[in-house]
Amino acid sequence: MVKEKKIDNQTLYLCSVCELGYLDRETAQKCEEWCKKTGTCSVEITKKAVYFPDPFKK
Ligand SMILES: [Zn+2]
Repeated sequence: MVKEKKIDNQTLYLCSVCELGYLDRETAQKCEEWCKKTGTCSVEITKKAVYFPDPFKK
């Protein structure tokens, strides 16, 4: 389930698996589906990420 996170008055959507954040829910959803299915992140998707958790974990 995609998580919402508010940072600086902006709502980001976080993939619940890799916890990268995206500006739109659709992309976060895609990332999450990909992460669950493959256990890795898709570069095509993660290049759209705008938020990176610290420490970054795969
Ligand atoms: Zn992900």
